[in-house]
Amino acid sequence: MTKELLDIVIKESMQYLESCPDKKIGISESYEELCRNIDQKLTDNGESAESAIRSLISGARKALIHSQNSRYYGFVIGGALPVAVAADWLTSVWDQNGQVYESSPAASIFEETVESWILEILDLPKESSIGFVTGAQMANFVGLSLARNSVLQKASWDVDEQGLQNAPHINVICSECCHGTIHSGVRMMGLGKKNIKMVSADCEGRMNKMELQLLLEKCKGPVIVSLQAGNVNTGAFDDFESIIKMAHEHGAWVHVDGAFGLWARASGKHKHLTSGIEKADSWSVDAHKWLNVPYDSGMIIVRNSEEHLKFKTSRCAYAGDPDDSKRDGSALTPENSRRSRAFVLYATLKALGRNGVEALVENSCSMAKLFEVQLQTIPGVKILNDVVLNQVLFCINPEGYADPDTFNKSVSDRLQAKGDCWIGTTSWEGKVALRISVSHYSTDARDVEQTIRSIKSAIKKELQQHHSILKEV
Ligand SMILES: *Cc1c(COP(=O)(O)O)cnc(C)c1O
Repeated sequence: MTKELLDIVIKESMQYLESCPDKKIGISESYEELCRNIDQKLTDNGESAESAIRSLISGARKALIHSQNSRYYGFVIGGALPVAVAADWLTSVWDQNGQVYESSPAASIFEETVESWILEILDLPKESSIGFVTGAQMANFVGLSLARNSVLQKASWDVDEQGLQNAPHINVICSECCHGTIHSGVRMMGLGKKNIKMVSADCEGRMNKMELQLLLEKCKGPVIVSLQAGNVNTGAFDDFESIIKMAHEHGAWVHVDGAFGLWARASGKHKHLTSGIEKADSWSVDAHKWLNVPYDSGMIIVRNSEEHLKFKTSRCAYAGDPDDSKRDGSALTPENSRRSRAFVLYATLKALGRNGVEALVENSCSMAKLFEVQLQTIPGVKILNDVVLNQVLFCINPEGYADPDTFNKSVSDRLQAKGDCWIGTTSWEGKVALRISVSHYSTDARDVEQTIRSIKSAIKKELQQHHSILKEV
């Protein structure tokens, strides 16, 4: 029975992956139609596993976004490498609870190995520890929480014992261009969004150093500074070298949100962008984005592993007595029971090797550069960012068109409706911009060319429609 079931899944998976390059990437049906495809009856006695799986497949089919297609450029998504998918299947089959050594020695020892590999690839302090979490949101939450505990400890306040009531005021500083998950992290750790001190950013989204310096001089009490490696729109990096020095002189804990940008350290050509980052106190990074493993997989890396280990010290009685020589990975994360994410990371890094990770990163960056060059040949297109990494931000200002925001939005809608590539919009400096994130492992020059053709055609159609409406008026 199990075999028959898994055979269905293998067949469906192969069909899916083989057809993905030719599929329309986005969705054609309305919400109501998508819901109608799902058999929503919950029965008393259930049905065969096979028919349940077939229901799942038929219900999902039309509602899937095909981000496994190499011309999907939305968010910062990335595909899923075959080796990672295979290891992910095994992770489910083995069903290991990665909580403590006793619940899965395998999870524990693979976490240890992956921890040392990641520190080596990202060239971060060897003494650091890594917590394997769902993604950069949780990584930012853990990093900022440890920052809070540490800066309050220095002010003779033990958060674990005393909580936050009547605790000294903490100054949380980040840039106006930080990711929304920093704000959520601050809210979840009980410091309140209103208490975030925002420093302005330059045209690439980098923190304004002078303003930070002035702010630090005014701050009384404990300070946390949150920096960014890889702005989600521009791919830009804060100036770590000088900012971290400045922040540490004021006794601050420095956290870096490097959800995708931290991977620049794996590339000889791009590592310089992160210069000085290794002096920070904690770093967040995702694997499900640029390393191209399936959702979900992120990491929180903390220089002071002793402080990290205190993140969650309580251990369930049934887990037995702690043995300090064995890794209890859940102590480093907010979860108790956990998926064993290290299996996928192990197999992926083993398959790619140091050079494979470097090639993955450099390919995305050179395709982004190719986009920059090609886009500039289209009349009216303006590149809005300095293309330093894998992100390209641009807008179209057609001559004689009064409302560029609507135009850019319509071009994106058109591209998504046609579906041979997927490009979304964002708001940049108060205007609608189009954004391309090259994060799929197999995006190549042919994809770029095809995408450029699609963009040109969408612009042409939009202009034609506009002119015909004008004529009617
Ligand atoms: C994507 C992203 C996050 C959030 O990551 P999740 O994996 O979605 O939790 C945080 N910061 C930056 C810069 C990002 O790009």
